[in-house]
Amino acid sequence: MSNPSSPATPALPKVGFVSLGCPKALVDSEQILTQLRAEGYDTAKSYDGADLVIVNTCGFIDAAVQESLDAIGEALNENGKVIVTGCLGAKKDADGDDIIQKIHPKVLEVTGPHAVGEVMQAVHKHLPKPHEPFIDLLPPQGVKLTPKHFAYLKISEGCNHRCSFCIIPSMRGDLVSRPIADVMLEAENLFKAGVKELLVISQDTSAYGVDVKFRTGFWNGKPIKTHMTQLEGALGELAKQYGAWVRLHYVYPYPHVDQIIPMMAEGLVLPYLDVPLQHAHPDVLKRMKRPASGEKNIERIQAWRAMCPDITIRSTFIAGFPGETEAEFEYLLDFLKEAEIDRLGCFSYSPVEGATANEIANPVPEEVREERRARVMQLQEEISKKRLQAKVGKTLRVLIDDVDRNGGTGRTYSDAPEIDGVVYVKPPFEPHRKLAVGQFVDVRITAADAHDLWGAAE
Ligand code: SF4
Repeated sequence: MSNPSSPATPALPKVGFVSLGCPKALVDSEQILTQLRAEGYDTAKSYDGADLVIVNTCGFIDAAVQESLDAIGEALNENGKVIVTGCLGAKKDADGDDIIQKIHPKVLEVTGPHAVGEVMQAVHKHLPKPHEPFIDLLPPQGVKLTPKHFAYLKISEGCNHRCSFCIIPSMRGDLVSRPIADVMLEAENLFKAGVKELLVISQDTSAYGVDVKFRTGFWNGKPIKTHMTQLEGALGELAKQYGAWVRLHYVYPYPHVDQIIPMMAEGLVLPYLDVPLQHAHPDVLKRMKRPASGEKNIERIQAWRAMCPDITIRSTFIAGFPGETEAEFEYLLDFLKEAEIDRLGCFSYSPVEGATANEIANPVPEEVREERRARVMQLQEEISKKRLQAKVGKTLRVLIDDVDRNGGTGRTYSDAPEIDGVVYVKPPFEPHRKLAVGQFVDVRITAADAHDLWGAAE
């Protein structure tokens, strides 16, 4: 019961949040939400319950730009007070004007990506922060948008490469690695808060520390280099203490990546390597200006599989890149047949505004791009079916993401959330044992298709 003589607690200013885009943008959203909560702002679940709305945008491909512009328009109509952040915020049109300000002049402020400080300044200006010491309390792991049992850990921002199809460096700048102690502390807080799977992300995970010349930092009183292999080793050890998984994304096939394969074989980090190769033909890779394009990828993949036979390799490819000949495309198909990549995404080339690849001679017509993408996916369907079929009869550890009356859905080490397949799990036979979200269970695999597995909990 409340004390009638105590002063009423002032209502907290409420901020609505719309988060669009990739996992890296999601981490930006989490950092902004963390800061808002740290400063005593509340979050609103609807436009009309919010005093102000922040829209975190994506500007990577034209469809994402349109989705972001629509989201801003909706927030303006429904609420009226809108701050925009994210990749689209940094984008200009052909006349050099800010796209957002031109289309939605009523937006209060616009920032680029990775701009927590600037967004907070804009929030302070348009929705001054409350002075209430007790509302500054915040869980140390921050505010997460992912379910409680998995989380993304961003280790760096920006990129030193200049792939000709990509405008991320022009929006996010050169590589800036986070201090290794900050990364480790965040990982520890996440594990303490119950995270069972940590997904390491960045634009180029294998380049971690290049910008600071692999500076030595300290964690738990011990020196540790700002270097991918040392970070993964330390994260793996930490994860072991909490019985959790560490998964690596966006790893380019530089020679030092070979050093983490034994860590995968040992079980320190998941034997899952997300290597965005984008193509196989050396001339196309040169036109793409891809990092590590001179590496002999087929040999690398074979060597990784020899070191760690259970490794799952995930990659993405672009079909119909400007100038791609039928022979170059068939070279890619031959590579895919030989490499038998476990998890594969393929996009038809999308001429993103501002990308230098758009100036390359002999662009591939849209229908050919689409047709080539379909051919890659058709081939991959067969490869994936065969590789998943080989898992039938095995018992695999599964992290449960969802439960329902029929059992649950989870993922093995081979499946990253959102982008890979799932395992449909029948619950254990004993009626007292129920599946729970965030729980690891051993599942006997009984069936497979080209994407997913089915099995029964043991
Ligand atoms: S490595 Fe290439 S594709 Fe990836 S962010 Fe950097 S420039 Fe873009």
